[in-house]
Amino acid sequence: MDFYSTNNPEHRVSLKEAVIKGLAPDQGLYMPESIPVLSDSFFKRLPNLTFQEIGYEVIGELFGEDLEKDQIKELVDHTLAFDAPLVKVEEGIYSLELFHGPTLAFKDFGARFCSKLMSMLMEGEKRKVRVLVATSGDTGSAVANGFYKVPGVEVHILYPKGKVSSLQEMQFTTLGENISCLEVDGVFDDCQKMVKEAFLDPELNEKMLLTSANSINVARWIPQCLYYFYAFAKLPQLGKKLAVSVPSGNFGNLGAGILAQQMGLPIDVFIAATNVNKVVPDFLLGSVFQAKSSMPTISNSMDVGNPSNFFRLLALYGNDENELRDKVKGFYFDDEDTARAMQDVKNASGYTMDPHGAVGYLGLRNFLKIHPNEFIGIFLETAHPGKFKSVVDRVLGLELELPERLKAFMKGEKKAESLANDYSQFRQYLLDSAS
Ligand SMILES: *Cc1c(COP(=O)(O)O)cnc(C)c1O
Repeated sequence: MDFYSTNNPEHRVSLKEAVIKGLAPDQGLYMPESIPVLSDSFFKRLPNLTFQEIGYEVIGELFGEDLEKDQIKELVDHTLAFDAPLVKVEEGIYSLELFHGPTLAFKDFGARFCSKLMSMLMEGEKRKVRVLVATSGDTGSAVANGFYKVPGVEVHILYPKGKVSSLQEMQFTTLGENISCLEVDGVFDDCQKMVKEAFLDPELNEKMLLTSANSINVARWIPQCLYYFYAFAKLPQLGKKLAVSVPSGNFGNLGAGILAQQMGLPIDVFIAATNVNKVVPDFLLGSVFQAKSSMPTISNSMDVGNPSNFFRLLALYGNDENELRDKVKGFYFDDEDTARAMQDVKNASGYTMDPHGAVGYLGLRNFLKIHPNEFIGIFLETAHPGKFKSVVDRVLGLELELPERLKAFMKGEKKAESLANDYSQFRQYLLDSAS
């Protein structure tokens, strides 16, 4: 499978180049040159397949030309090493829980697939790949845990000193091995700027292989299509149409759902649900796409004002804006709506939603209200409520017990080097670590 750049359909690269580069040289996002459609026999068997069996077939369709069968098996087994339960919350409304991985958020799926695939593609290369990540919290933990002990890959995480919750900090600084952490005397944007400068530094790029592992990388984006198939397989067949609501920030997760749909999965409508950072819902309601600076909310992993995967959504619909507006329904909610939904659902059914999942739930409920009795719906629960304990405790008036996996991180020992907010020092650090 070759990949093209959303900025230039003529620019084609191999899977290896797309994954190692991350972003196309023209700043476009890589897209698969064609989307395979799975056979009728696959969909007949789907309700009886395990998560892993679904993974072998779907990834086999996409990457069968690039990888051996046993590589695909290894990749899928590593990625889908935990379950994604489908939980009934109300009549006709199901939560797809994507938070049962090591860092308790759906980004674990993409990070684990990306790390394993990168190390496979680098097999036989003498040079190590260096993954540079700037993080304000969640991406750092998913990437660090995904790449932990992966041969041939060194990960350098830059994070703003004192601006990351201690729970988040412990999730990446306690690992050691091939994960090194730099505590920067600055804010998140300073970390991001230093990483970008390194990617553009000709001398560094001559001496080492630098790459990124954020959501624009196809190796993080594509595997997210797998849990849509799995959810469909487990859904009771009630003879109604199916709506899927995705709480969104950078819109990688929603794009991966549309990819599954275009591979033949019978999802009738997608709902793009956001907090007040609503440039995509605004677009879907008829405005032009206009990036804005982001506003802070209680669903802070979705505080994105310039969603990088928007152009993937457009590409999936042949760059036809009206087609995208026709197929995807947009909704947005403020913090008050979100908190009230968390309380209402807790009171009605006892189910605890995290603030991100609650935005997805609200999108679905509002859509179903407009289309009574026609649909059943799934919303994606993207993080464990314990990851946002202070918000959840305050909104629901309770003391959430942290899951064991989170508590275990708190017992580790923090290892991080201090770094001034100065690119030349970061550069020297990278050169020293490579020698
Ligand atoms: C990253 C994240 C999102 C947003 O996902 P996108 O693919 O960027 O739209 C939603 N919820 C949680 C908990 C996240 O960490």
